[in-house]
Amino acid sequence: MDKDYFYDPRKLTKITAGQKRAGLVDSYRHKGMRKRLVQKIAKKGIQDKRILEAIGTLPRHFFLDKAFEEWAYQDKPFPIGNEQTISQPYTVAYQTALLQVEKGDKILEIGTGSGYQASILSMLGAHVYTIERQEALSLSAKKLIKELRIPRIHFYFKDGFEGLPYLAPFDKILVTAGATQKPDILLQQLAIGGHIVIPIGQDIQVMHRITRIAEHEFKEELFDNFKFVPFLGGIVKR
Ligand code: SAH
Repeated sequence: MDKDYFYDPRKLTKITAGQKRAGLVDSYRHKGMRKRLVQKIAKKGIQDKRILEAIGTLPRHFFLDKAFEEWAYQDKPFPIGNEQTISQPYTVAYQTALLQVEKGDKILEIGTGSGYQASILSMLGAHVYTIERQEALSLSAKKLIKELRIPRIHFYFKDGFEGLPYLAPFDKILVTAGATQKPDILLQQLAIGGHIVIPIGQDIQVMHRITRIAEHEFKEELFDNFKFVPFLGGIVKR
């Protein structure tokens, strides 16, 4: 693994004063639980070694409320405040696998939430532009990722429906909230050959991968069903 691109776990063992103050400690117990989580996800069908390695390296308990730390390594979504959740680890792995991340990719993520998914994308060598409509979540994710010194993640407090037109085109776009229809504005921000991974549906969402084959030509692939928090318009100031 190219250590220049891949997030170096040694940075966490050499804990800085700031990390200690913030209670960011990764114990052997956490590491053990994380290893078992990775085994579980692999068993469910995720084969990409880079993704499994990233999930096995990144301490998920840093991204949850302290009260939920004990549950951080269960394969479940958990509350992160403001009625939002950190996605289930399997879902993170599933969406990341469909995205086919390559080193150096420019990726737009809609729904920063805790910043966990964005961190996984960065660990795979991507440049991540992540949008969140809830200011409080965007700010706390930004603070945590700075503390952890995970590189190449840019935070935007905005309505994700608009994307980031002035930074387009993106190689990949990942939507981590449940949409009710195809977002045309985001499709226009894809590079030719790039694709968007997005769950679409009312109560239950079908995972879609839509690839921009040519300027006006798109290919659509459908995958499994999931349940996401809703993709909502507008912003929420803290
Ligand atoms: N990727 C996140 C999980 C996100 S949950 C993680 O790794 O923790 C979905 C997130 O999408 C929520 O934080 C929600 O506030 C956000 N969201 C919903 N609609 C949005 C929109 N229009 N623009 C930006 N973010 C949105």
